[in-house]
Amino acid sequence: MERDSKKSDSSLSKGLLQSEELYQYILDTSVYPWEPEVLKELRKVTATHPRAQMATAPDAGQMIALLLNLIGAKRTIEIGVFTGYSLLVTALSIPHDGKITAVDMNREAYDIGLPVIKKAGVEHKIDFMESEALPVLDKLLENKTNEGSFDFAFVDADKVNYWNYHERLMRLLRVGGVICYDNTLWGATVVMPEESVPEWMKVGKHWTLEFNEKLAFDSRVQICHVPLGDGVTICRRVS
Ligand code: SAM
Ligand code: CA
Repeated sequence: MERDSKKSDSSLSKGLLQSEELYQYILDTSVYPWEPEVLKELRKVTATHPRAQMATAPDAGQMIALLLNLIGAKRTIEIGVFTGYSLLVTALSIPHDGKITAVDMNREAYDIGLPVIKKAGVEHKIDFMESEALPVLDKLLENKTNEGSFDFAFVDADKVNYWNYHERLMRLLRVGGVICYDNTLWGATVVMPEESVPEWMKVGKHWTLEFNEKLAFDSRVQICHVPLGDGVTICRRVS
């Protein structure tokens, strides 16, 4: 696998790391050599989108791929698709007959990434639904056979609903299954005095704090709060 250029990649945020150089070091040394060409291509097409910063970063994608492989995930849920970086990571990591229920209330960005997903030969694993995520999860739960049938979920959408997603995913996931919740440090605002928090981040800070506190006392799960990207909480269902 080819290494990307050594110069700093301005399309990616260093996340919560204190130095651009350190982040670039991680990308150059440990991430880019492993990143499949189709994911590099998807990053390129996403870079033209005005909200490209929303995409999952390649280091987070690498962690998701590792977790999927560790648990042998076959059936997964993706909440918040955008152009599909984390979706394509998942589709490339699960077996040929694996399935992903992917939900986003806006299909426009998905259509930008779709040609790359098709080129990767993994479109058949994806069941994309243009919808609010909660009704999709509720619909899945109407069918009892879906309970405990999913191995993995990646949640990267509206923070206000994280706990609502969690309650539903706890029923859809098998014991031993894993959920990754993204942006659980919300730009480090979780520890900022209120007056320093940018106005547009205040509501998200509130929901993130509430979610993190509830999750820490949820005996159904084992968690690890990873300071990668904007914070990812890995959550394994234990009961
Ligand atoms: N995981 C994606 C990636 O790897 O590029 C990034 C997802 S982006 C941060 C968040 C996405 O969640 C947006 O595409 C948005 O349309 C979607 N979204 C927000 N609220 C939603 C909801 N209530 N139901 C479904 N999708 C939602
Ligand atoms: Ca995110």
